[in-house]
Amino acid sequence: MTTPITSNRLKTDPSLLNSEAEPERPPLSTRVLARRVDEVPRSGIRRFFDITATMTDVISLGVGEPDFDTPQQVIEAGVHSLQSRRTHYTSNYGTIELRRALAHHLERLYGVKYDPSEEILITVGASEALDMAVRATLDPGDEVILHEPSYVSYRPAVVFAGGVPVGIDTTIDQNFSLDPAKVEAAITPRTKAILLNYPCNPTGAVLDPEVQDEIARIAVRHDLLVYSDEIYDRLVYGGYQMRTMSSLPGMRRRTILMGGFSKAYAMTGWRIGYICAPSEILEGILKVHQYMIMSAATVAQDAALEALKTGEPDVAMMLAQYDRRRRLLVDGFNEIGLTTFEPRGAFYTFPQITSTGLTSDEFAERLIREESVAVVPGTAFGSAGEGHIRCCYATSEAELREALVRIERFVKRCRDEA
Ligand code: PLP
Repeated sequence: MTTPITSNRLKTDPSLLNSEAEPERPPLSTRVLARRVDEVPRSGIRRFFDITATMTDVISLGVGEPDFDTPQQVIEAGVHSLQSRRTHYTSNYGTIELRRALAHHLERLYGVKYDPSEEILITVGASEALDMAVRATLDPGDEVILHEPSYVSYRPAVVFAGGVPVGIDTTIDQNFSLDPAKVEAAITPRTKAILLNYPCNPTGAVLDPEVQDEIARIAVRHDLLVYSDEIYDRLVYGGYQMRTMSSLPGMRRRTILMGGFSKAYAMTGWRIGYICAPSEILEGILKVHQYMIMSAATVAQDAALEALKTGEPDVAMMLAQYDRRRRLLVDGFNEIGLTTFEPRGAFYTFPQITSTGLTSDEFAERLIREESVAVVPGTAFGSAGEGHIRCCYATSEAELREALVRIERFVKRCRDEA
């Protein structure tokens, strides 16, 4: 027989024994949302999408997605999948063909070995990978150290999973690299994990090998888990050699590697990503995925398989274009007097706008209203982003050039006003 809630409460709250009536429950309108949901602010990026949607002739450097369409043969693989009536669930892990191809791909690129039968899970984008990873591994109150400014979803994902995000500021003076000493200083008995995203959204920063090695040593020394969101792994420039976190000494057993097809293969709309982890960790993650998602869309998995098999020339072509646009924007901003550190990864620049006398929010809001150029205020990525704006260069060179003309005009006006 179940114990009625009221008698439990009487036992644990003796003050109720003297009250004549049960205290009234607050009306539903004041308690409909869970506190942890209510307290998380809306995404700072969405507000600018909303403003943009009401305007015409907007040049958008706001959205973090490729302007390229998915490569043609990948689209065709999706069409073929549907026409072959592949319209059913797959294994909870994802198709074995895609997992095998991914295992091969990661070994070829980074020398890491994952067993496709029990160490790889196909997810609904890296977004699901992140959510599943934190939900499967965090207990209430567990602390997660993360660098900021960082991707908008990290804090909410950790909070929704019951964890506590502990931000470490990174700055333009240090090329937005994570200072290992600060990581070590932030570790407490409650620390469960470090969350890394290099190449980084929004800064475009990468980790130098010595820094990455030192962070790995800290994780090992303090026996921490590492969530490594490597969704921009293929988008690196200037000879930077990407190394996956799990390939570093002592890291494979403590790394949850997350990635996806959205960025490198221009597949944002297909919603397809992955998690790789040792089987004892992946088993737990699979449990959450199994109950909540079942399996990623079959059509998207079939298309992703084609991307891995034949997409290399497409990745190389897009990367070469991003690299040219990166140069254009970095040089352009520096010429205007908006100091911009040279990003070596992803497809974002993160210019400093403090010389205009405006805050990030004011800058972004006035720029869209006065010059119809959409950028994202740095504060959307945490308070450490104040003084910066994020500009995505996954847009045509012609648009980037026009955006620079408009931004220069705007900056000049701000300086004249000051
Ligand atoms: N992680 C980072 C750092 C991102 O920038 C994004 C998208 O912008 C994601 C994850 C989500 O990617 P997906 O489209 O695979 O869900």
